[in-house]
Amino acid sequence: MLAQLSPDCPLEIAIIGCGITGPLLALGLATKNISITIYEQAPCPPDTGAGIAFTANARKCMALIDPRILDCLAAVATTNGDPNHPNNNMRFVDGYTHSPDDTAQKKVYELDTGPKGFEGCHRGEFLSRLVEILPCGVRWGKRLDAVVEVSGGVVMRFCDGSIARADAVIGCDGIKSRVRELLLGEDVPASYPHFTHKVAYRGLVPMEQASARLGHERAHNQQMYGGPGAHVLHFPVAQQRLVNVVAFVTDGGDWGVDRNLSQRATKEEVAGAFADWGATVRAVVDLLPAELEKWAVFDSLEFPAPTYARGRVCIAGDAAHASSPHHGAGAGIGVEDVLALTFLLGIVSERVKTSRRRALAVQAAFAAFSVVRRERSQWVVKSSREACEIYEWNDPHCGSDMDKAYEEIKRRSQKIWHFDIDGMLRELELEYGRYLAE
Ligand SMILES: Cc1cc2nc3c(=O)[nH]c(=O)nc-3n(C[C@H](O)[C@H](O)[C@H](O)COP(=O)(O)OP(=O)(O)OC[C@H]3O[C@@H](n4cnc5c(N)ncnc54)[C@H](O)[C@@H]3O)c2cc1C
Repeated sequence: MLAQLSPDCPLEIAIIGCGITGPLLALGLATKNISITIYEQAPCPPDTGAGIAFTANARKCMALIDPRILDCLAAVATTNGDPNHPNNNMRFVDGYTHSPDDTAQKKVYELDTGPKGFEGCHRGEFLSRLVEILPCGVRWGKRLDAVVEVSGGVVMRFCDGSIARADAVIGCDGIKSRVRELLLGEDVPASYPHFTHKVAYRGLVPMEQASARLGHERAHNQQMYGGPGAHVLHFPVAQQRLVNVVAFVTDGGDWGVDRNLSQRATKEEVAGAFADWGATVRAVVDLLPAELEKWAVFDSLEFPAPTYARGRVCIAGDAAHASSPHHGAGAGIGVEDVLALTFLLGIVSERVKTSRRRALAVQAAFAAFSVVRRERSQWVVKSSREACEIYEWNDPHCGSDMDKAYEEIKRRSQKIWHFDIDGMLRELELEYGRYLAE
């Protein structure tokens, strides 16, 4: 038997997914006196070992959502470079061109990311810290199957047969979002992500080994190596005990959406792809463990979601705009979504007291969110793909000219990092008022 929501109760929001966007949204909404429940399909917090870095704009948004988020991040982050003099630069270098004896010094391009702008962290450790400070319980082992809008709210059905009710539901359920599927329709291509024909080989290397082979300075700093049809990235993680190596390679084959996004691979496979590259890149690849993971890179570029909201159902983060990782900004754009939803639902919670008006107000908030957030987030999806083409010398304007590539990446990155947050909030309030008046 489902309890009916009383008009005077605080607004009740169900969040689907406890990845990055979901827990941050719960923290934000709690500051607005909104009651939240998170439903997550995993049986417990996943110990995802992958590294993740948050851009300057994402950090600013975190401070506005709930300043404790930055404390959680600081507790698990790994400094880039010397801890006494952290290095905030993203570094690029031509990893391919080399002289026969391969001794020529390469030009290193340095792009200032802003304070701590390239500080990575262990995803699982960050999530554990967030879960510790969550104002609500997480219902682990709850995989959403269906959502139905009913008078005054939504009813959710989970794969274990249980049901739950809320005023509204926000899908933060990632790249293979069920909420997006329910929102847009199961037969619609935009409901699913698509293979970008890039695979990422990922492996962790002990810092001692990396330092011995690459030198102290290089091993302790983030570095990206560009070249034809592929690129390699490495950065320190786990308080500089490990180096995270990611090698992106073109894959002309097919990768169905129902297939697992990752599979086992071997170092030989990666070494083959970089066999004619410069000595440094070959050394980086040689450091990889004999067996590693290969991840298929999916995104939503060809089939973007035409809307992020319908009625009292909304999607945010990767569920709305899954991006390839080449700007290192996918999660950061999700953090901007969180600030936008926190702001809008904060207005609803504070100003709208009766349940009938509340239902309309939530719809107006979701509609405003969709309209305001869609352009920027879809631009990031597109630019991220294009950044990959630039790194891999396929861009018609830049080709293999690293000077041009650097300028182009700088222009795009700065558009992501230097974001007018106040402007976004003003626009959201305006759109919300417009929808409410309709
Ligand atoms: C190789 C790689 C490197 C990256 N590096 C960076 C980086 O450095 N910086 C950056 O900003 N971004 C990076 N990204 C992007 C980033 O990982 C994503 O943007 C981010 O994880 C999205 O967070 P999310 O919470 O929206 O989705 P997710 O993190 O995918 O979380 C979704 C959650 O929903 C749950 N879920 C799914 N379906 C259901 C269901 N039906 N019912 C209940 N729960 C469900 C899942 O189990 C999961 O816990 C990278 C991505 C890749 C692939």
